[in-house]
Amino acid sequence: TKWVFGFGDGKAEGTAGMRNLLGGKGANLAEMSNLGLPVPPGFTITTEVCTWFDSHDKTYPDELRAQVDAALDEVGRITGRRFGDTSNPLLVSVRSGARVSMPGMMDTVLNLGLNDETVPALAAAAGDPRFAYDSYRRFIQMYSDVVMGLDHHAFEEILEEFKNEHGRDLDTDLTADDWQQVIASYKALVEDELGTPFPQDPHEQLWGAIGAVFLSWESARAITYRRLHDIPNDWGTAVNVQAMVFGNMGEDSATGVAFTRNPSTGEKALYGEFLINAQGEDVVAGIRTPQDITEAARIAAGSDALSLEKAMPEAFAQFTEICDRLEGHYRDMQDLEFTIERGRLWMLQTRSGKRTARAALKIAVEMADEGLITTEEAVMRVDPAALDQLLHPMIDPAAERDVIATGLPASPGAASGAIVFSSDEAEEAKAAGRKVILVRVETSPEDIHGMHAAEGILTTRGGMTSHAAVVARGMGKPCVSGAGALRIDYRTATLTVSGRKLAKGDVITIDGTTGQVLVGEVAMLQPEMSGEFARLMEWADAHRRMAVRTNAETPADARAARGFGAEGIGLCRTEHMFFEGERIVAVREMILSETEQGRRAALDKLLPMQRGDFTELFEIMQGLPVTIRLLDPPLHEFLPHSEEEIAEVAAVMGVDSEVLRQRAHDLNEFNPMLGHRGCRLLVTYPEIAEMQARAIFEGAVAAGKTTGSPVTPEIMVPLVGVKAELDLVRARIDAMAKAVAQETGITIDYQVGTMIELPRACLRAGEIAETAEFFSFGTNDLTQTTFGISRDDAASFLGPYQRMGVIERDPFVSLDQEGVGELIRIGAERGRAARAGLKLGICGEHGGDPASITFCESVGLDYVSCSPFRVPIARLAAAQAAL
Ligand code: PEP
Ligand code: MG
Repeated sequence: TKWVFGFGDGKAEGTAGMRNLLGGKGANLAEMSNLGLPVPPGFTITTEVCTWFDSHDKTYPDELRAQVDAALDEVGRITGRRFGDTSNPLLVSVRSGARVSMPGMMDTVLNLGLNDETVPALAAAAGDPRFAYDSYRRFIQMYSDVVMGLDHHAFEEILEEFKNEHGRDLDTDLTADDWQQVIASYKALVEDELGTPFPQDPHEQLWGAIGAVFLSWESARAITYRRLHDIPNDWGTAVNVQAMVFGNMGEDSATGVAFTRNPSTGEKALYGEFLINAQGEDVVAGIRTPQDITEAARIAAGSDALSLEKAMPEAFAQFTEICDRLEGHYRDMQDLEFTIERGRLWMLQTRSGKRTARAALKIAVEMADEGLITTEEAVMRVDPAALDQLLHPMIDPAAERDVIATGLPASPGAASGAIVFSSDEAEEAKAAGRKVILVRVETSPEDIHGMHAAEGILTTRGGMTSHAAVVARGMGKPCVSGAGALRIDYRTATLTVSGRKLAKGDVITIDGTTGQVLVGEVAMLQPEMSGEFARLMEWADAHRRMAVRTNAETPADARAARGFGAEGIGLCRTEHMFFEGERIVAVREMILSETEQGRRAALDKLLPMQRGDFTELFEIMQGLPVTIRLLDPPLHEFLPHSEEEIAEVAAVMGVDSEVLRQRAHDLNEFNPMLGHRGCRLLVTYPEIAEMQARAIFEGAVAAGKTTGSPVTPEIMVPLVGVKAELDLVRARIDAMAKAVAQETGITIDYQVGTMIELPRACLRAGEIAETAEFFSFGTNDLTQTTFGISRDDAASFLGPYQRMGVIERDPFVSLDQEGVGELIRIGAERGRAARAGLKLGICGEHGGDPASITFCESVGLDYVSCSPFRVPIARLAAAQAAL
């Protein structure tokens, strides 16, 4: 078996395509060598050795040693040096490199091969003893730390002490003699602490470092990281051994990192930093302030430190040429590491660079325009979830953050405002033109007006599907939920957290993208929906199969969704239309009436409002499909709670408060989400379905006249588990259609369908489809009923469940494809088998989640429906799923 792959001198045994075997770093070093770029020669020990090492009691394959020796000889031949030689020693770096870059693993050992005998040779070769001893002490510290497990602080203490005693301020003030004294102390420390001297044999050093890389693959940190990122344990890591080049050989040497385009803005301009006379880790260590690579960047930053462009023009010219070449070759923005040794440029790494959502978008669109990638590739290059950042104001990354607490990132975007603790206060403040953040322990349907009025919502209790989270996402408002460290005292109108106290009126900022709560107002960046964003969306639309609709019931939401490109409404939750002002009183009146007559009286009050609502929605959607769901209120959300509310309804109904209190008490359910809701209410109180159907048909007639385009409403019955439920409700709808047609002389085309949100409905989808013309999977309830986990109470244990690895993701956020997904498959198959052309969609929160959308494509759904602000995400995710 070939365990070792060499590179350097314009050729390599590997290629970029061999990432699985050579790891990302090794594969790209090989590729750069093949391209003839200046890469210090070296070799890669394959990931298969790591797998062998783990399965063979931490030992190596027999042939490995000989292959490593041969590869070392080859590196020596290319460099004209020899490993361990005391007159012209070869020094190497040892680095880990898995398929994907992975924190938690051993990173780098530099200057390996130095010992008491090779260090004078290095001093002579470099003509600089100070440099040689400085390199040696760095090596001892680094090797002792990462290979032998001796904390680097102990070394830093020795150095500090030495500097104090000898009056040296900076490391650069130390002479070669000084460093020799420090080295003696370092070696003594190793021997004291570990009971063995620092290894002098270069081969022992090398195998120590190789072993440390492989052992680090099994370190606790690396294992945790792999678990969190779905990286299989058997991928293993490779080890890269490479001839050292020195960026710290004087003023004509340097080291740096660069991106071929700006990773935070995406601007097409070389972006990076470097340090003169420094070694790799100095740039990231932040001890010295790095200098800009280009003049343009230096001027923009207002820095007076020399740019690389000015300091080393020749190396700079060569470097920019290589950057262009690599970007063109890899067809993506590259993240590079380089070193300049005595004026000569060496490339140490290239890889696709990490970038912000903003940059990803700009780079993808511009590269497609440049002809470097296709529009399909551009569509695939942008992470749909990251688009979220672009659709909302976000905190300026350069702004300072005074974070006082962190909750769940429940609804993205950031907002600042004065603290208010009640929804009424929020509304008053808004009316007075003030910006507020509504801060509550939790929210309920009674807070809708306050949530509308506030810039953002902060709660101290509740998860990602809590009322606050769901409603805020629907409104596109930032929300941080479950910030448990905050203590709210409604009585004194204060908020305390770890000794700090904030009062009503104090300004805070919430970041619903990260879950942070910050004190004061923080600078924001506004979203940009035109330009590149619009172009990428156009390309996405050209490639997607599924339609994207929105969940919306208010005109504002419907308009916003159309602006985001929604192709219709997939879910209009009519109960959400009933929370406001006088309406809630009429709804309560209806629910609390003991007779059909009483209910009809209340419904008569609601009819004109509903008709107006639907007319407006149809007008906004201009002939696009609109799915209206009949009333689905968990009763507890509508019952009056306070004495005031009870008195208000009692007065309207002309009954005694006491009677009403009793009635409300009787209607109280132990388990409202599994109680008298959905079609169960419509079956037992069919007059509700009649009123809503009338409002829909009359609204369709009205909107048809004003817009000139015919409206085809889709009427959706919620929570059906038994075919007979749907039959009963459908009969009322059909009868009402006839009645309205007769009254108006206009026949409305319409469809009746159902939500599929109970396991039984999935299993009996065949017979339900005999009555239903479409299905919409209500995956919020379907998840709740499949798992038997309450949507509203799950936060307290789903968090721990995820941390303990019981479940990977919150199933209310990302669809449980194995369990809930299997039920959806069954429902889709059985439904379509019974009715050819049955229209299938999804309208649970999952309809806006990219991973769930991929699943929907695989089941062949016709559309996904999601909250307005997720529409662009869904458009992109649907395109990626189809490509
Ligand atoms: C669902 O259950 O997935 C759904 C969309 O309905 P709701 O969230 O209103 O119960
Ligand atoms: Mg539901």
